[in-house]
Amino acid sequence: MHFAQEHTQSYYAASANAATDFARLKGDIRADICVIGGGFTGVSTALTLAERGHTVCVLEANRIGWGASGRNGGQIIGGISGEAKLADASPELGKLVWDMRWRGSEIIRERVDTYKIDCDLKHGYVDVAIKARHVSDLEREEARLGEHDYPFEHRLLSRSETRDALGTDSYVGSLMNMGNGHVHPLNLCVGEAQALASLGGAIHEQTAALKIDRGDAVRVSTAEGSVTADFVVLAGNAYQWLDRSLRGRIFPVRSYIIATAPLSDEQLDTINPHDLAVCDPNFVLEYFRLSADKRLLFGGRCNYFGEDPQVIQRELRPRMLKVYPQLKNVKVDYAWGGTIAVPVNRVPQLGFIAPNIAYSQGYSGHGVNVTHLAGEIIADAISGKKERFNVFAGHRSPRIPGVNRFGNAMVSLGMLYYGLKDRL
Ligand SMILES: Cc1cc2nc3c(=O)[nH]c(=O)nc-3n(C[C@H](O)[C@H](O)[C@H](O)COP(=O)(O)OP(=O)(O)OC[C@H]3O[C@@H](n4cnc5c(N)ncnc54)[C@H](O)[C@@H]3O)c2cc1C
Repeated sequence: MHFAQEHTQSYYAASANAATDFARLKGDIRADICVIGGGFTGVSTALTLAERGHTVCVLEANRIGWGASGRNGGQIIGGISGEAKLADASPELGKLVWDMRWRGSEIIRERVDTYKIDCDLKHGYVDVAIKARHVSDLEREEARLGEHDYPFEHRLLSRSETRDALGTDSYVGSLMNMGNGHVHPLNLCVGEAQALASLGGAIHEQTAALKIDRGDAVRVSTAEGSVTADFVVLAGNAYQWLDRSLRGRIFPVRSYIIATAPLSDEQLDTINPHDLAVCDPNFVLEYFRLSADKRLLFGGRCNYFGEDPQVIQRELRPRMLKVYPQLKNVKVDYAWGGTIAVPVNRVPQLGFIAPNIAYSQGYSGHGVNVTHLAGEIIADAISGKKERFNVFAGHRSPRIPGVNRFGNAMVSLGMLYYGLKDRL
């Protein structure tokens, strides 16, 4: 039994262009491909498949973008978590992985353009350094961008340039990358779903997939109907409960965001005049950016402490004020959280659990970009084109014993460990 939920009370849900209301599935239908999960992975995969002429059906247990895709920091960050492990084997593989680093962002830009999706897409991002060793990492990354003739503006910023760009003394340097950027993620996800529907794709909200019967044709059962399909794609990521063995391969890590009241132009000028998205390098990281209506959206990874906005605000606001003490009188209007899927080896998990049942999950904090890449790779793999798929399939992450039963307790321990490591 699954009880469908509405969106969490986030700034994104409050500022969504449209509240989706795709009908529940009632009755038995047929599709070439049935996608389970209506976040970026599911919608993006389905849209790619529909663009290629397949009939697709997306089943979403709650609402389109209800999971991490409609709740995240909205930072479009090039790169793939764990990518050093992927690229090592040969120069050819290195080139393939380098191109994949940016493909998801490219797909987002193409879609926003093609389907005229109104989602506040902006260019401009900085990776900030907290310690000297982070500066060395950024210098290496800058050199790599140069070696690969990266087509967007990119530049190392000194400590004082970083202070001028971000109005805080918290960082010792940064790397600006104008190919990365930020977006209203829920509006992007919903816009892509509407594009899918315009191409004839079927979308059913409040329709949990409850059971999968394998075979030459796969049958996915829901409370009031079923989809029979040649292929099924599991795209539930950290919110997936249907296949416990897949769930057992990821840590469900919690991340929370607060959104301030809209800031004045003077305040904006002191804290982020160039409207850059910002992310720090810690595992227990902080990330922030401005919304289109001038709020500071400040996020951080944290221990699990539930969904109560008051509690979230109590935990995150002091972290925001450490970076921006000048905002001490600014009200917080929204506070919410979501779950990120983090594999032990940090490499996104793309694979098949049966010849005609694929999955994609575990992007850590790079999901906005990588889900869009993954959608294309899974669509390719379904039609037998597996070059990029095989890069990931060769890196299976080990199962995490007990994570299905003791998830939150294990996450707390994990956050403690990584928090200590960040401080070294
Ligand atoms: C607070 C937060 C901040 C983040 N910030 C960033 C960021 O700034 N940049 C970045 O790149 N990444 C960020 N991420 C990560 C990113 O959001 C995710 O990696 C990405 O959205 C995952 O997309 P997804 O479609 O795979 O999963 P989700 O968006 O979680 O979607 C999964 C969907 O599957 C549905 N589902 C599950 N099981 C079933 C079933 N049986 N039947 C039907 N439906 C089902 C769920 O209801 C859900 O809607 C953040 C995540 C969080 C939580």
